[in-house]
Amino acid sequence: MSPTSTPRSSSRTPAPRPADGQTKYAPTPGIPALRKAIAEDYTRRGFTGIADANVVVSPGGKMSCYLAILATISAGDEVIIPAPYWVSYPEMVKLAGGTPVVVNAEDVTGFKITPAQLTAALTPKTRMVIINSPSNPTGAVYSRAELEALVAICVKANVWIMSDEIYENLVYDGQTTCSPATFSPEAARLTITVSGYAKSYSMTGWRLGTLVASDKALVAAVADLQSQISSNATTFAQFGALAVHQHPDKAKASLAEMGAVFDKRRLNLLAGLNAIPGLTCYRSQGAFYLFPNIKSFGLTSSQFADRLLEEELMAVVPGSAFGSEGYIRLSYATSDQVIAQGLERLARFCAKLKK
Ligand code: PLP
Repeated sequence: MSPTSTPRSSSRTPAPRPADGQTKYAPTPGIPALRKAIAEDYTRRGFTGIADANVVVSPGGKMSCYLAILATISAGDEVIIPAPYWVSYPEMVKLAGGTPVVVNAEDVTGFKITPAQLTAALTPKTRMVIINSPSNPTGAVYSRAELEALVAICVKANVWIMSDEIYENLVYDGQTTCSPATFSPEAARLTITVSGYAKSYSMTGWRLGTLVASDKALVAAVADLQSQISSNATTFAQFGALAVHQHPDKAKASLAEMGAVFDKRRLNLLAGLNAIPGLTCYRSQGAFYLFPNIKSFGLTSSQFADRLLEEELMAVVPGSAFGSEGYIRLSYATSDQVIAQGLERLARFCAKLKK
């Protein structure tokens, strides 16, 4: 469907209210006005060759990742995944018939893989490299120079780059983010950029993800897959998301407000964790997670998490779920009170383990 075929295609048109009855099926890749607004947004940010036809709106960032993998990976293909990784990447690769190739990074290297590690992991079967910056679970953010070095290797090897940028608006310590697709025409050709509204705008339950790529055949394949899997992302939710693009000043102000609150919680939790004897925590620069090192306690991360749950009624996610033993993940997307309570329980538990 042409993006200009209905009166609602202009991003300047006010978003319809619920009473407008936007409750029917929509075009598979997304409503025209939202695709247009997303394309314009990426173009403003330095992406080239992104028009409405290069955008798919999906039912969540998770679905965008899965569609990107399903559209590119076949049986026997290898996908390089830096660890600690977001839990779903290896499973999605396996569901597509591919083989995850995990490259490990530790806290001492800022949870970032090096160009030498990436080069060593490449084989003739490598089809894709997944980059997630800012990262879930570590909050690590690659600098532009670090990313450029990795992307240059991907370009030389002619492999897809899936850049999961869902935490792109949540960075601290003056850190900035950048997108591999903006580095060069070759990088743009190979990069599939995934994002969504869940983290930046706290719209987790709206289930809206985005996928953009300059390769139109790839975008068409993603849309074809979506048409068989979900038809389209929920129609009225898409009209709701238009508000983000139609009120950029409000969206920016709410991001700044939320970012300031998260930053305060990050520093508070970080200081509290590093004050616990036996724990050390890397200073994350993005997302809303901290990933402290628990290696000094001599337990696996699952044993640590299980005992913490049983003895202190405190739930954390073991590092093993993210492919990294010896760490636990904490989220500070919660209240100051819960963070203070959690720190108290964790300190008591760690002191008991050290006795
Ligand atoms: N990518 C990463 C790294 C995430 O952490 C998440 C959610 O936790 C997603 C993608 C999926 O987000 P959504 O809720 O939009 O499906």
